[in-house]
Formats: sequence, C-alpha cells, structure tokens
Amino acid sequence: MMEGSFVLPGDEVGSAEEFVPGDCTYAKGGVIYASTAGLVEVDPKTRSANVIPKSNAPPKLCHGDIVVGEVIDLKDSLVIVSLAFKKGYENRPLSDEEATIHISNVRNSYVKDLRHLFSLHDILKAKIIDERQMRLSTGDEDLGVIKAYCNRCLTGLMRKEGKLACPNCGNVETRKTSTAYGLGVV
Ligand code: ZN
Repeated sequence: MMEGSFVLPGDEVGSAEEFVPGDCTYAKGGVIYASTAGLVEVDPKTRSANVIPKSNAPPKLCHGDIVVGEVIDLKDSLVIVSLAFKKGYENRPLSDEEATIHISNVRNSYVKDLRHLFSLHDILKAKIIDERQMRLSTGDEDLGVIKAYCNRCLTGLMRKEGKLACPNCGNVETRKTSTAYGLGVV
C-alpha cells in the first residue's frame, strides 16, 4: 500500500487484513481494490483505505450546470465570458472555454443596455442553457455578477441599496447581481 499513489479501477489498494475498505474501494478475497481512478488515502483513525477520485481533465459541461467566469467582452447584445470553473468542480479549472449570454437571457425583465448590467472583468455565475453553443443565462435570482470592480479605480464594489458602490472613490455602478454578490461563495 502506497499512500498518495495513483490507482486505476481494479488496482490493488491494500490488504483487507490491514485496512478497512473505504470510499471508492471494494474488498475481494482479502484484498482492497480501487473502484475508480484516484489517489490512495488512509484515514488513520478508522484505518480505512480510500481512493480520492482525481482527474486532470476538466469536467464535462452540461445543460443546467452552474458555471463561474469572467466577462472578457461586451457587445450590443452579447456578453462574452471566459469560464473559470463549474460549480462543485472548483479544483478542476476550465481552460480556454468561452461562453456567451444573450441580452434576452440576462434577466427576466427587458434589458435596454447590457453595459448597465455588466462590465469588463466582472466575475459572474450563470447557468448553461445550451451546451453545444455554450450559451448561458443569468435570469435566476442567485445568478449574475458575484464580484465587480470600480470602473474608475478598480477597487472591489460593495453592495449598497440595490446598487454597487466603490468604498474607495464613491463611484456608484449598476449590475445584474446575484443574491450571492460579495459573499465569496458560489
Ligand atoms: Zn472607485
């Protein structure tokens, strides 16, 4: 048994005499095997041998998934977002994955000007509504901008009376904010 070693499904993890089969393992004929690819980890308290699933591949993105990304461009009717990660897979960052939010999917009411609701470098949380063309929606209450920076001085904006205010220069801006704005949680 080599703690920290990488195992594939069916690889031997340890002896069932020495360890208790833990997460993602099974015991057969006195031997504990991995049921998934991952890293071997022993819990010293319970003497259980576990396999912690690990993959370098970014997670698959599906319809309905919640993703977090940064606004990298704004057009008249589109917000271009560089995706950072999928909710629940924060340790497996997405790379070079871009998505768009059409003006009609920003919120449930009419949007006249996207630039009143998003700005470059905003961090937002959105739902995938079309995984093939990677289109997102921020319509739900908990979706939208979760972190924004002052357009004048780049300080992080704070929520204040339904708007966002800069604690440094006093600049007031508007966004389509998520109810999770500024909470630091997704
Ligand atoms: Zn400012």
